[in-house]
Amino acid sequence: MVNREKIEQAVRLLLEGIGEDCDREGLKETPERVARMYEEIFAGMSQSAKEHLSKTFTAENNEMIVEKDISFYSTCEHHLMPFYGKVHIAYIPDGKVVGISKLARTVEVFARRLQIQEKMTVQIADAIMEDLQPKGVIVFVQAEHMCMTMRGVKKPGSQTITMVARGVLEKNENLRNMFLNLVGR
Ligand code: ZN
Repeated sequence: MVNREKIEQAVRLLLEGIGEDCDREGLKETPERVARMYEEIFAGMSQSAKEHLSKTFTAENNEMIVEKDISFYSTCEHHLMPFYGKVHIAYIPDGKVVGISKLARTVEVFARRLQIQEKMTVQIADAIMEDLQPKGVIVFVQAEHMCMTMRGVKKPGSQTITMVARGVLEKNENLRNMFLNLVGR
């Protein structure tokens, strides 16, 4: 659980630091508002993917299951700025599957934390391997980082892509290519 009081104090300091007047009308409730928002966007810190991935169904067959275009919003741990985009996931079941919405829930658990994109990609793949125990999984993330587009190199629309494959999807290039075709890459 986040400590709202500490966040409010910090936001006040931050505002003072950039030379703002914390008492002016538009900023009066900003510290409290930011604290409430942080509680929501960092909710994943106190959640585990297991609660979503442990409710499984018996699989009729073990063909590849693809869930593409899962939107996510996360926060970069280097700049405390948003990065956001899409996650595409495929897995090859080994006798059990999860409801499709559970993959999106799993993405949320890891996106709603301070993150770097590479780590988030690994965490999603590893959680699915550990908790669902499929024959293989692949996680593909494409994202725009506000810390890159608002400052520094300023390349609006540029996408950072990360991909992690485990199990048979790590070993089998044909399966990987099938997935990349399906997600339009
Ligand atoms: Zn950053």
